[in-house]
Amino acid sequence: PAGLMWFRRDLRSHDNAALFRALKACRQVHCVFVFDTGILDALPRQDRRVEFIRESLVELDAALRAAAQDQGAGLIVRHAAARQEIPRLARELGVQAVFANHDYEPQALARDAAVRGALADAGIALHTYKDQAIFERSEVLTQAGKPYAVFTPYKNAWLAKADAFFLSSYPVQAYAAALAPRPTPHRQPVPALAQLGFERSNLSELPLPVGMSGGRALFEEFRGRMGGYHQSRDFPAVRGPSYLSVHLRFGTVSIRELARTAHGLAQDGDAGATTWLSELIWRDFYFQVLANFPHVVDESGQGHSFRREYDAIAFERGAHADELFAAWCEGRTGYPLVDAAMLQLNQTGYMHNRLRMVTASFLCKDLGIAWQRGERYFALQLNDYDLSANNGGWQWASSSGCDAQPYFRIFNPVSQSRKFDPEGRFILKYLPQLAGLPEAVLHAPWTASPVELAAAGLALGRDYPAPVVDHEAAREQTLRRYAVVKKGA
Ligand code: FAD
Repeated sequence: PAGLMWFRRDLRSHDNAALFRALKACRQVHCVFVFDTGILDALPRQDRRVEFIRESLVELDAALRAAAQDQGAGLIVRHAAARQEIPRLARELGVQAVFANHDYEPQALARDAAVRGALADAGIALHTYKDQAIFERSEVLTQAGKPYAVFTPYKNAWLAKADAFFLSSYPVQAYAAALAPRPTPHRQPVPALAQLGFERSNLSELPLPVGMSGGRALFEEFRGRMGGYHQSRDFPAVRGPSYLSVHLRFGTVSIRELARTAHGLAQDGDAGATTWLSELIWRDFYFQVLANFPHVVDESGQGHSFRREYDAIAFERGAHADELFAAWCEGRTGYPLVDAAMLQLNQTGYMHNRLRMVTASFLCKDLGIAWQRGERYFALQLNDYDLSANNGGWQWASSSGCDAQPYFRIFNPVSQSRKFDPEGRFILKYLPQLAGLPEAVLHAPWTASPVELAAAGLALGRDYPAPVVDHEAAREQTLRRYAVVKKGA
């Protein structure tokens, strides 16, 4: 039989569950990626992620050809609505089955259901597999058979279950001979960005290597410092985290390979690897939240509180809230750590985890704006945007999520700044105009004396904004605002 491997968020030719199954089951396997107009049409014309995918496909195409030792094999790339294109292509190629890896987001589930139906009408099967998680959906449940809503017991159950079987790689290469040559009409190169209707972003100027080779290089570099992760990960000026999130998002690295490495080191007592493995488990945790508590988001992508009573909170609206929201988005709140973090996001598509917590908390609890607005902004900007982790992270910060921080624990943006960027090295990278301020006032420039401001050549309101809110007053107001859910919290 012949099969069609449909790549989506799994842009790699090694250790890929669906590709492995397809190659094992079929005599000939065609490979396709669809730039889905259903997703692309809604994006701004410069998008680092579209470029990341495009560059990664060039490498995937070359790797598939090399694996088959046949210049004729490789990736068929289409720019169309996937719902129609996959069934059409499957019929055109005369395959008996389409293979793909599980996707957990509501829009993707709806797409897959539509494709499954259209394929079934043509007598073609759609086979899908777990690939982007170690454990998915209801694979890790409580003893009572219920999904977990608290992380630590979930993590313990995850660790008890994770063994060599779940952490092993799929030996794709052993079956590569089944990769089919591309039929002549499909032998076009991967389309250029302009052909997709996009312009170049600043992706190529960022220290972010793309594709499988980029993911591998980052992981190899991170392995050398994984042992110190638990100490360095909270300081945005330090190269502490792995920067692998965008690669995990698009599947240019294998979660099994990453988790297996960390798990092995953790079992030998490596504290850094133990902490890093926990982060990978958070990723699975939020995937399963989305699957088991689907009310946290609707099909349009709009988030809803995990704890439904939090939907009753009255957040700020209207023109003033819009102004505050714009100041937050553009990094001009007057709180240097918040502003530097937002500039990092806008300029690079990445934001350090500690800063995601600080900026998200600031939006909900200092500006009094609904977490959903911030969640949507992150969704547009983050290279690694993932609905489950983003929704989970925002609900953690706004206290409306499962295992969220209690609503009365409110980050103080100035103390966070002093603690995690004590010398202001991160701040100054994005806000060099603050360079002349003494460390004691750098985290709260409005506390600088006129002499200090003059010595730094800084005028608040001209070179850097005055704070848009007073933290203490905002904190009191948030406690009042959140009081509606006091009983349920
Ligand atoms: P590392 O510290 O090296 O962690 C390794 C990997 O573990 C990450 O790549 C990621 O896949 C996973 N991970 C780490 N922390 C978390 C977490 N809290 N939840 C789920 N997975 C985690 N992560 C995303 O991948 N996409 C998002 O859209 C996203 N939005 C977030 C929004 C908010 C408000 C918050 C607080 C966190 C969000 N995170 C998101 C989680 C986390 O901030 C990023 O995964 C991390 O900063 C990515 O950098 P890294 O790869 O260098 O991480």
